[in-house]
Amino acid sequence: MAIYNSNKKLVDGYDTHTHLNDDQLFHDVPAYIGRAHEFRIMEMNIVGFDAQSNQRALQIAEAHEGVYAVLGFQPEDTNDFSDAAAQTLGEQIKNPNVVGVGETGLDYYWDTASHDVQKAAFEKHLALAKAADLPVIIHNRDAFSDVYDIIKQSGITKGVMHSFSGTPEQAQKFIDLGMHISFSGVATFKKAQEVRDAAKIVPLDRILVETDAPYLAPVPYRGKQNEPAFVKFVLDSLAETLDIPVEKLTDITRTNGHRLFLNHE
Ligand SMILES: [Zn+2]
Repeated sequence: MAIYNSNKKLVDGYDTHTHLNDDQLFHDVPAYIGRAHEFRIMEMNIVGFDAQSNQRALQIAEAHEGVYAVLGFQPEDTNDFSDAAAQTLGEQIKNPNVVGVGETGLDYYWDTASHDVQKAAFEKHLALAKAADLPVIIHNRDAFSDVYDIIKQSGITKGVMHSFSGTPEQAQKFIDLGMHISFSGVATFKKAQEVRDAAKIVPLDRILVETDAPYLAPVPYRGKQNEPAFVKFVLDSLAETLDIPVEKLTDITRTNGHRLFLNHE
């Protein structure tokens, strides 16, 4: 890991999960990227969730320095993940701007696709990621044991549990599989003490930050529309939880993101 330089006043941050490809943000992509730069958030992953958003992620990454694409079908949209869609995804992830596969996983809260359909799609995403040697961004909502079992069976060790909202014990089990743990605005919510307790057990070389914009805006913007610049507030809150300087955490999370998604530090 890079050594933290305490003389460095400005430290660049990396939002590893944002949706400028979402209808709410897509109309004004350059403005959101510009504002992120004002907060020195210089890199971000645009994460796809269906066919259209994957196409948009590629388009945004192509047009902007420091912006990368991650492509997949989120669990809620897996009814549309046909064999043809899987084949298209397999082709799209060969694009040099693509740094990961996802978001994929299981969501038993919204339950818009059957558990069998979700599991089959999740397994297919993991197989594509493995074949392409790309990391996976994993979504888990109310499906811990199935998500855990599927990752374990796949033998995948390069990935991240996105917007982690589980217990310290669950975080530990994912860490033991080789996963990174990414914290979003959820970790800033008053009632989320368990999530902050989980953050404390994550090794510093496995921790990442994200916004999941336009959703999950951190305190003090909770309930408002989120955007990549606001990962700054996730970093502020998490640094306080971990009792380390925010510049150091910004540096650590950027370095971890580079190692996982870009294969360099
Ligand atoms: Zn997301």
